[in-house]
Amino acid sequence: MRLLKEANVAGKTVLMRVDFNVPLKDGKISDDKRIRAVLPTIDYLRKKKARIILISHLGRPDGKVVDELRLAPVADRLSKLLKYPVHYEPDCIGSDVEISARGLHEGDVLLLENLRFYPEEEQDDVGFAQKLAAPADIYVNDAFAVSHRAHASVHAITKFLPSYAGFLLEKEVRMLSSLLKSPKHPFLAIMGGAKVSDKIGVIENLLKKVDAVLIGGAMMFTFYKALNCEVGRSKFEADKVDLAKSLLKKGKKRIILPTDVVLSNRRVVPANKMPKAFAGFDIGPETQAIYSEMIKSAKTVFWNGPMGLFEQKPFDKGTIAVAKAMSGCKGVTVVGGGDSVSAVEKAKLEKKFSHVSTGGGAGLEFLEGKELPGIKVLE
Ligand code: ADP
Ligand code: MG
Repeated sequence: MRLLKEANVAGKTVLMRVDFNVPLKDGKISDDKRIRAVLPTIDYLRKKKARIILISHLGRPDGKVVDELRLAPVADRLSKLLKYPVHYEPDCIGSDVEISARGLHEGDVLLLENLRFYPEEEQDDVGFAQKLAAPADIYVNDAFAVSHRAHASVHAITKFLPSYAGFLLEKEVRMLSSLLKSPKHPFLAIMGGAKVSDKIGVIENLLKKVDAVLIGGAMMFTFYKALNCEVGRSKFEADKVDLAKSLLKKGKKRIILPTDVVLSNRRVVPANKMPKAFAGFDIGPETQAIYSEMIKSAKTVFWNGPMGLFEQKPFDKGTIAVAKAMSGCKGVTVVGGGDSVSAVEKAKLEKKFSHVSTGGGAGLEFLEGKELPGIKVLE
């Protein structure tokens, strides 16, 4: 990948794609971690005397202007975080944008309007990309979370400007490729969450590299179905049972299933002896202890997907146990996935991880071994 460090940005206008797709509640930003995540790159560019234009999407306006999805509140928040005024332009292409861009001084920052107000963004439209590129000399992608999409602002745009990876994108790629290329053993993957179907590709690819995959979350019941066990009223995917069977075969003994389960009525039962009338909501205490032991002595651990219905107490215990074990592990620890990351943050353990990935879907596709369109064009 071409890296931002190698670019000469002094005095240049740098167009940077960021992921400012922040959660909004009544027009207010309820979590600004996606903004904070790119502050190092913005600070670097300002120090190097670049003129900075930021572009992002927000929500799903589906190709039309939606006032609630304007980026104005993000400009305010960014301005506070940078302690420097951030200009905001209520469009992302056109003559007003070009005039504002020309008015920028060295170190100034301009945030443009939501890219997805134009259907051309998600269509990877070349003409739209050319208009986006018009005011800039250099393009930087610092939005790992959207790099698995061939959209105009991460893909087509690189046809028009010399293009580089920002610091956040660089770190994501470095950390995730180290899992695939040179992991220290024992290497564990912990996979949970609602559906096996979301994560089959990752489990298949990681099975080639890991010593064990520890399964949790509702997906465990699809595996137990594959073993012809009763799963009661638990959530599982009937059409993925055969696939789970073949994964168990392929994985030999390396796919580890929970031995006990916490039921919806809080009772704990052996995982292979579930009653018909209840659903499983979490991995049980025995499983928590086994998994924690394995995690603590591992040299590399990747985790995606909560171990249970963690939004609802007391069914967050399994997820918290994994988060705690990982924060006590001396090896490389990486967590990815929207819900798993939010569980780690709720437990205030994020600083104890080697890497907390900002890319949900993008991270999974990367670990499946797929080439991400937004990253390929930076090579
Ligand atoms: P991530 O966002 O970390 O990739 P997923 O989106 O795949 O994770 O899965 C998270 C969801 O899975 C959560 O909403 C959680 O409540 C749900 N879940 C996990 N275990 C169970 C379970 N046993 N029964 C029902 N839902 C579960
Ligand atoms: Mg999720």
